[in-house]
Amino acid sequence: MLEIFRNYKEKILQLFSNDIGIDLGTANTLVYVKGRGIVINEPSIVAVNQKTGQVVAVGAQAKEMLGRTPAHITAVRPIVDGVISDFEITSEMLSYLINKAQSGHTKLLGPRVVIGVPSGITSVEVRAVRDAARAAGARDVHVIEEPLAAAIGIELPIHEPRGSMVIDIGGGTTDVGVISMGGLVKSRNVRIAGDRFNSDIVGHVRNEFKLLIGEKTAEDTKIAVASVAPGKVPFEVIIRGRDLVTGLPREMSISDQDVRNAIGHSMEELIEKVKEVLEFTPPEILADIMQRGVHLAGGGALIRGLPEFLENALGIPVIVAIDPLTAVVRGTGVVLNDMAAYQEALLRSDDELVPTE
Ligand code: ADP
Ligand code: MG
Repeated sequence: MLEIFRNYKEKILQLFSNDIGIDLGTANTLVYVKGRGIVINEPSIVAVNQKTGQVVAVGAQAKEMLGRTPAHITAVRPIVDGVISDFEITSEMLSYLINKAQSGHTKLLGPRVVIGVPSGITSVEVRAVRDAARAAGARDVHVIEEPLAAAIGIELPIHEPRGSMVIDIGGGTTDVGVISMGGLVKSRNVRIAGDRFNSDIVGHVRNEFKLLIGEKTAEDTKIAVASVAPGKVPFEVIIRGRDLVTGLPREMSISDQDVRNAIGHSMEELIEKVKEVLEFTPPEILADIMQRGVHLAGGGALIRGLPEFLENALGIPVIVAIDPLTAVVRGTGVVLNDMAAYQEALLRSDDELVPTE
């Protein structure tokens, strides 16, 4: 009887409120609205006026402002290295996203929100995210760790008593998660991901070619030619920067091999971290993973040759998720569609979390 009443109440609440899923990534923030799909996909950047402490712009608009604003306006990433750097700014960002997602579709009650957070997050930070979402008008807030959300988004059978593994290579961090029976069995959050590859490229070009390039150029170069093994044909791309000897602008071409040399060390380090997670995975689950493979998500999954490279290094089949950049937010959408089935996957408010690294 109570159950029927609960379901009934749930249906009525849904009529008067929106269901929103948010992937609060270090590089990109995505928002899913039930019935409408992914409605926001913007960089996780907030422009702040340092004199007044006010938020001037969020997302794409804030990124657009980078380097073009007076000195007192700075661009901030609210989630740095998987850690919430500033509660106020995160709160403003969530508020902007929740309002924008509902614009034109506002309902009587505040939305129900499922938020994906990096797996290394502490309980204090989870509370901060919950409070921020409530302050932004959410009626009901649920938090899920991103590797789990990615696994759900990739449609892995997470409820089965069989293990699977997801490696989500984002901007600030890579999340490695081992999943079984609807929950995370093991997880690790390491600070080797897209941003590190960018700074590797900046460093390599400076040391090898005496050319100073910006972070943005490094990222464009990475997306254009980054790979972990030589392809059939070499790739090249033109980069522009400041010659460190003459101080004047100079352009040169950089090859996929140069980029491989730049990011090689970080890649090796990343593989070591993944191996460590495998070493601490219970043998039965390890056997499942060997059979079903490791699933790659996040923007870093798009680096050319990565699945084959990891396969060789780990001795386990590796599968790149379809549309790896949206796996987490799609997962939050699946959870919203069937909250009851994913109770185990959500973080409870009394869960004691400690950062893994
Ligand atoms: P986060 O979840 O931390 O916000 P994302 O999963 O959105 O991160 O991935 C962003 C990262 O992926 C950035 O570092 C970006 O440079 C990188 N990235 C995006 N596309 C590619 C690509 N085609 N090749 C290599 N790296 C990519
Ligand atoms: Mg992510």
